[in-house]
Amino acid sequence: MTAPRLEIDLDKIHHNARTLVDRLGARGISVTGVTKAVLGAPEIAAALIRAGVVALGDSRIGNIATLRGARIVAPIMLIRSPMLSQVEKVVAQAETSFNTELDVVSALSQAAIAARRTHGIMLMVELGDLREGIMPGDLESFVHAMLDFPGTALRGIGTNLACRSGVAPDARNMAELSVLADSIDATFGHRLRPRLGSAAGSGLEIVSGGNSANLQWALSGADTGRINDLRLGEAILLGCEPLRRQPIEGLYTDAFTLIAEVIETKVKPSKPWGDIAQTAFGATPTPATDRISEPAAEQSRTTQTILALGRQDIDPDGLLPPAGIDILGASSDHLIVDSGGSRLSVGAEVRFQLNYSALLRAMTSPFVVQVVKTASGCRQSKTKQPPESVQLEFQAAS
Ligand SMILES: *Cc1c(COP(=O)(O)O)cnc(C)c1O
Repeated sequence: MTAPRLEIDLDKIHHNARTLVDRLGARGISVTGVTKAVLGAPEIAAALIRAGVVALGDSRIGNIATLRGARIVAPIMLIRSPMLSQVEKVVAQAETSFNTELDVVSALSQAAIAARRTHGIMLMVELGDLREGIMPGDLESFVHAMLDFPGTALRGIGTNLACRSGVAPDARNMAELSVLADSIDATFGHRLRPRLGSAAGSGLEIVSGGNSANLQWALSGADTGRINDLRLGEAILLGCEPLRRQPIEGLYTDAFTLIAEVIETKVKPSKPWGDIAQTAFGATPTPATDRISEPAAEQSRTTQTILALGRQDIDPDGLLPPAGIDILGASSDHLIVDSGGSRLSVGAEVRFQLNYSALLRAMTSPFVVQVVKTASGCRQSKTKQPPESVQLEFQAAS
């Protein structure tokens, strides 16, 4: 079979999603399944929907177009602020988007009116991680201004932590989000669109507490307040929580496996020799005394193996090799490993687990083939198509 390839076990992803949907459901929290790490792969999205997620979330409109192209009809949220240049596409493909800028809400409003639709707005609030979000003190005036835009409906508020700065979700910042939701309801509740099946002016429908990093807080037994939704990607796909990267009890951590093939195995000196300058990726020898290595003839020997896998395919720092194999280095196209006592012959395959960064790169690389496995069989997925939004646009030279 072709390599490198990413084996995707849909049943394990389904199990992980179902388990989290059940555990959070018991705490009154629904799950929005986030598909950005898998480029909006429709089969994975369908497994999440079967597992009971209430909506899908993706940060790229191109991935959302992939989902819609595959006739996924679940509600989809764009979980990054729309670009002004893409508001028409956003209104056409996603029911709801995450917003922090009035100019963008205004443009969405115009696009929604032109398309004769109502576009849902989630407002993101900054609670300390210093990524996206309206400062809490500015939220009320933002809502006041946006309620004047026709064609849009405020559906809820949310926050995102533990991404840029690693700020952990806790009782304090989650309580702050609940207080903000209460105060918006108190001030503007009568002007919000009624939720399905409830009286007019019943308040914000969604209070989205965060991502996989919120699980520990949400399942700790702490008061969850107004938080009634979490957006989960990594926890479902990799079965681990992102604050300390610990496996989550009862989930599979091996739904994705990367398989690479050996192209060279040789006994070589254990260190480089010659005058040593920068590597292909800019690493410099430290300390400076390492610049001249021992002559090759005087060194101990090791068996080093090369796999046809590199930085164009994965993030080498995010690969977990099988027991007995150590990763020594990586370039664009070569992964150098030490297989200890056991000799890996040319043509042999080695299976790795991946962290979030390696998974993202493997999914994005055109060189890594995806093989989807289910209980009923195994098949190679379609060749990757560039998502709509990254297709090259040619402009005639003027
Ligand atoms: C990526 C992302 C998520 C999902 O994060 P995970 O850690 O993969 O669960 C949730 N919300 C937003 C805004 C995101 O960008």
